[in-house]
Amino acid sequence: MVNTESNILLNSVKYLKSVGPKKAESFGKIGIETVKDLLFYFPTKYLDRTNILTTTKVYGHLINGYEGEVTIIGKVVDKEVIRYGRKEILKVQVRDASGFFECVWFQGVRFFQNVFNEGEQYAIAGKPVLTKYGNLEFVHPDFDRITETESQQFLNTGKIIPFYRVSKELRSTKIGDLSLRKIISNAVEKYSGFLTETLPADIIEEENLLGIIDAIRNAHFPENYDKLNLALTRFKFEELFYIETLVALRKRNYKEKIAGHSMKIKSKLIPDFLKTIPFELTKAQLKALSDIRKDMESPKPMNRLLQGDVGSGKTIVALIAMLIAKDNGFQSAIMAPTEVLALQHFKTISSFLKNFDIKIGLLIGGQKKSAKQKNLKIKELSESDIIIGTHALFEGDVSFNRLGLAIIDEQHRFGVVQRSKLIKKGVSPDVIIMTATPIPRTLSMTVYGDLDVSVIDEMPRDRKPVKTFLRGESKLPQIFKFIIDKSKQGYKSFIIYPLVQESEKLELKAAVTNYETLKNTFLKDVDVGMIHGQMSIQEKEEAMQRFSADALKVLVATTVIEVGIDIPDANIIIINDAHRFGLSQLHQLRGRVGRSEKQAYCILITKDEFAEKISSKNLQLEFLSPALLEKNKTAARIQSMVKYNSGFDIAEIDLKLRGPGDIFGIKQSGFPELKYADIISDMDLLIKAKEKAFSIIAQDPRLILPSHKIIRDNLLTSYKENINYSKIA
Ligand code: ADP
Ligand code: MG
Repeated sequence: MVNTESNILLNSVKYLKSVGPKKAESFGKIGIETVKDLLFYFPTKYLDRTNILTTTKVYGHLINGYEGEVTIIGKVVDKEVIRYGRKEILKVQVRDASGFFECVWFQGVRFFQNVFNEGEQYAIAGKPVLTKYGNLEFVHPDFDRITETESQQFLNTGKIIPFYRVSKELRSTKIGDLSLRKIISNAVEKYSGFLTETLPADIIEEENLLGIIDAIRNAHFPENYDKLNLALTRFKFEELFYIETLVALRKRNYKEKIAGHSMKIKSKLIPDFLKTIPFELTKAQLKALSDIRKDMESPKPMNRLLQGDVGSGKTIVALIAMLIAKDNGFQSAIMAPTEVLALQHFKTISSFLKNFDIKIGLLIGGQKKSAKQKNLKIKELSESDIIIGTHALFEGDVSFNRLGLAIIDEQHRFGVVQRSKLIKKGVSPDVIIMTATPIPRTLSMTVYGDLDVSVIDEMPRDRKPVKTFLRGESKLPQIFKFIIDKSKQGYKSFIIYPLVQESEKLELKAAVTNYETLKNTFLKDVDVGMIHGQMSIQEKEEAMQRFSADALKVLVATTVIEVGIDIPDANIIIINDAHRFGLSQLHQLRGRVGRSEKQAYCILITKDEFAEKISSKNLQLEFLSPALLEKNKTAARIQSMVKYNSGFDIAEIDLKLRGPGDIFGIKQSGFPELKYADIISDMDLLIKAKEKAFSIIAQDPRLILPSHKIIRDNLLTSYKENINYSKIA
């Protein structure tokens, strides 16, 4: 392709037929600058002839009891606004070749009145009903305008009609559904031929894909449904293929780094330490350790994800890895998302190692220090074998001595950038990333595809599942009584109040007020403490310390204790306004209890009527359709908590509720967002794309073969923001 030709595609849309500067500006507002951008603005739906029925047919179906959705194409013959007292109703009469029907709007009457024009053609879709007068009626149907010609072509030749989203920016410069379709149709006709192929010919052939020009044409104005599917498949495949190529490059690049360290168990430190652990490691913990040990022994840097449900015992595994590093003269760092958790790690690890000569340092943000104190801290850290901290660890002035192992706890709280900042503090250190959230297979192939994974899929022995209940607020007095009774048997309780970002101050006040009230009323006979994010680190430390040491029986808390906190004899957690928490957040909170052999309880509280409503819905969580799930999000979250104990089941529902992007930090992952493919429903394509991409990178890691030039060029143009970690640039 000659340069000038492909440049045509980079021309502004303003030169297109019936566009011009004004309209071009509104296109710009929705990210369409060039002709090429417009060619890649795909329809959001297509008019499907298989669903189109005539008025008479629909009438017949309804009489026979049919209740589904249908589409009818017809012409508007009349419209009127009818007043009933203060209310207004819009009735639009539509006719097709076989008869009449009516569309009715109770809301947005004025708006819809102006949308429908007498004499124009519309495709009307929805669930029709028969009125008591025997008329066919649609209430608030979906509709799309089509031209007379389109409707002829559609009905006679089965031509498929695309519909595009017409945003308000476009509408503001008088680009409507029909004119947008016309603009795009002209552009496709005139310019699609200039597109340059972005997939190698052999892949197109082997995978039976449409070439780019054919694909673009059929994505907009399909010849038939098979072609449409082929066109969409091609763009999905292409997208997944390039993402997998990025994954393969990232993984390759990581493994290729020259200067990894090979670490072995050298002295008696490890065997001696193992003897002092007060419990037996589970099989799953041992397996994870053996994976880690092998990785550390290899001269290539380790990059391992350690996944295990809340309470499965990841910390001890991390600690043993850190001891291996120490055994080889290296420092280790463990980074926690909160100060409270970093402090806890510091204490637990110090106590595990109290009989060993190992220096442990702590670095958390909030500590205000003089220059002298700072220097002391720097000296202390440089002499430490194990350094525990928050994100303060990767800040500018912190430097390590010989950082050989970096551990990131509760990874979902950190983005890739933060992770890599810590890793850069060492020279190709081994890396362990710990998380309680199971990573679905689709994601372990994409966003996390460069990580090796160990799973701790077993709980320590003698753990009982936490009993979870939903209760209305009016039950709180009984629940407080339960807390007091149980405290006499050595139980300790958390009482959680939500803290949401939008109104932190207000919420905080609620937690503090509740704490004051509880202390003087329901809980006046037990020792109650409080912890929240606005406290100084000293105050937080003191609260945790007193709770842990039994000086407090109840700890009123905001979500500062959400992740990682481990107080084995805290066995009751009350979560107020439970409906305001996300599902994985609820599971994390519940994970604060059930960490010993005692029976633990998690009680979710909502307003009474809410609790009743949620309990009365019998959701079949496993079989819930996306639409039903969408309508019952809150109930689904709460019911999942009551029903499931394992993080695995919880994560599956959460994935359905929130979508993968939200949960697993795809946005912060350094990979592009998916535009065409859906990593859940397009799993098969994903697997194929991965195989292709990985075999190409294995064979030609720098993409220098002539047959891979297309891939290389496309990465350097369309994916240039995502390839900073690869070596092809
Ligand atoms: P998480 O995986 O959620 O980070 P922790 O590492 O905090 O879990 O461990 C939870 C608790 O279980 C800690 O008190 C820890 O000492 C204890 N623990 C870890 N492994 C075992 C085991 N194999 N048997 C009994 N208790 C264990
Ligand atoms: Mg933990």
